[in-house]
Amino acid sequence: MSIDENIKMLRDRLSRAAEKAGRDTKDITLIAVSKTKPNEMIREALDCGMVDFGENKPQELASKYSAFEGEDIRWHQIGTLQKNKVRHIVGKASLIHSVDSLSLAIEIDKRAKAIDIVQDILIQVNISGEESKSGVTPDELPALCREISELKGVSLKGLMTISVRDYSYDENKALFEKLYKLSKEIESLNINRVKMDELSMGMTNDFEAAIEAGATLIRVGTAIFGERSYNI
Ligand SMILES: *Cc1c(COP(=O)(O)O)cnc(C)c1O
Repeated sequence: MSIDENIKMLRDRLSRAAEKAGRDTKDITLIAVSKTKPNEMIREALDCGMVDFGENKPQELASKYSAFEGEDIRWHQIGTLQKNKVRHIVGKASLIHSVDSLSLAIEIDKRAKAIDIVQDILIQVNISGEESKSGVTPDELPALCREISELKGVSLKGLMTISVRDYSYDENKALFEKLYKLSKEIESLNINRVKMDELSMGMTNDFEAAIEAGATLIRVGTAIFGERSYNI
């Protein structure tokens, strides 16, 4: 199947899931996860009207950013981010999904102020409690939101999570609903400068459950670009 056909099919699935959930497709942004994939494939997806692209590795994001500079693209840093890699992507990533510590947020804040921008970020939450997963625990979240709200070089827009491989539809939905509830709890704290408008959740195998649970950003790689030759 071509990328064009894949995207058409995916948009159909997205619409059906939105309809089932009683939601407007306009409120759900499809991010094409292009990690490990060549620029020619990104070009094809762009020609199909895709605007949002996700990458795991900061250097890969930066090099693809340069290759497509001037085009109508929003880049998303969705993979784990180390402090020493922050400089590669601040100002290039429209949204950094994977902030999981205050020290990382402080580094982003510093780099953003240095180039006089405000960097949009999400906090990654480890809902499943699996040790292999990055992200803060739900318990740590309120304090981290308060601390991040003090950093004027970043703007907190919401939360991100990754579900568990092999979960059923219902298990995924239950996990994503926990992130949704958490975002409402944070919202009710009315922390200055903290927004909970975005929920980044759902990938190729679980995005329908995520849409039902309130996802505003879904991150889909395999269903658009096919299998990756290595799994990152
Ligand atoms: C790779 C990746 C995705 C996309 O996964 P697919 O199963 O290929 O859709 C989404 N989110 C994150 C954080 C990823 O690392």
